[in-house]
Amino acid sequence: MSIATAQDQIVEELRAAEKLLLTTHENPDGDALGSLLAMHWTLEQLGKDSVMYMSPDEFPLSHEYRHMTFDGLLGAPPDDLDERLVVFLDCGNIDRMPVDFLQDGRVRILNIDHHHDNTMFGAVNLVVPEASCTAEIVFDLANQLGAEISAETAEALYIGLVTDTGRFMYENTSAAAHEMAADLIEAGVDTHLVYRRLFEGLPYRRLELLSRALSTVASYDGGAITLAMLSRSDFEETGALETDSEGIVDHLRAVEGTKVAVLVRELLSDERRGARKVSLRSTDGSVDVSMIARSLGGGGHRQAAGFTTQLAPEELVSTLREQVAAQR
Ligand code: AMP
Ligand code: MN
Ligand code: MN
Repeated sequence: MSIATAQDQIVEELRAAEKLLLTTHENPDGDALGSLLAMHWTLEQLGKDSVMYMSPDEFPLSHEYRHMTFDGLLGAPPDDLDERLVVFLDCGNIDRMPVDFLQDGRVRILNIDHHHDNTMFGAVNLVVPEASCTAEIVFDLANQLGAEISAETAEALYIGLVTDTGRFMYENTSAAAHEMAADLIEAGVDTHLVYRRLFEGLPYRRLELLSRALSTVASYDGGAITLAMLSRSDFEETGALETDSEGIVDHLRAVEGTKVAVLVRELLSDERRGARKVSLRSTDGSVDVSMIARSLGGGGHRQAAGFTTQLAPEELVSTLREQVAAQR
């Protein structure tokens, strides 16, 4: 099915649906949360009964998103689940929403996303790899549905746009992304306030965690790989939360000569003891980090990808070095 056909089909199904349930990927980022809220408010504006689902484990959200409020959010399947059309937003793989009630084949799924490696797990898949963020696709859908973009919907979309483009810095920042920004500002977004909320007012523990990460920085293969690690004790001793590591990898990608920036952090929950989350960023596009992430059980974009691993640090580093070298 072409993207245009998928878009028409999705518009038709959203128009016809009375009850919906929206969801996104675990550890939601700004695009996940912004797309979720914007789609929810758009559907409500069109008179639909929309609810959102995220696991209660996601709360508190990462500090950036503390001002986002989620009325109509569920932490468990609703009794009327079978009557609801399910919409996944910004989720490349259904295993990134690891709950049985969405995975057991009971519900009809519309899959709206921009990951090029999306596994097409929906009944209808609107996957637009050229879109800078899922919020861009949601914005198009809202316009096609004839919804009025309220200031709060515009702000949610803007949060998705700003975070997934790295504040209009990454390669995915197209003319369409800037045009969308202009439209959203016209719809009432207070950009300065949004930036302050997203990127300032950080808890001090974040700086302490960053400082610990920077104290571990290692450079491999003539500077091509810049890598930092955070251990469980770094989190425990600074009082930092897992989400406080957000953004650290951007400091690594800025280092001269870096082709791939890597942040490895030990996971804190007891079920995931011994496991590490790896964030990969590619700077100039010479290395496709999503390929590396996929081969290790994760995924993502060519320039930003991630995975979770049980590999010990030394083995992990040597695997990453081999894979980066193989692509250069
Ligand atoms: P992160 O490093 O967590 O900021 O993620 C960067 C990108 O990689 C995002 O587009 C994520 O959707 C994707 N990603 C991160 N972790 C995984 C995973 N375990 N499986 C698939 N995609 C992932
Ligand atoms: Mn995302
Ligand atoms: Mn996204």
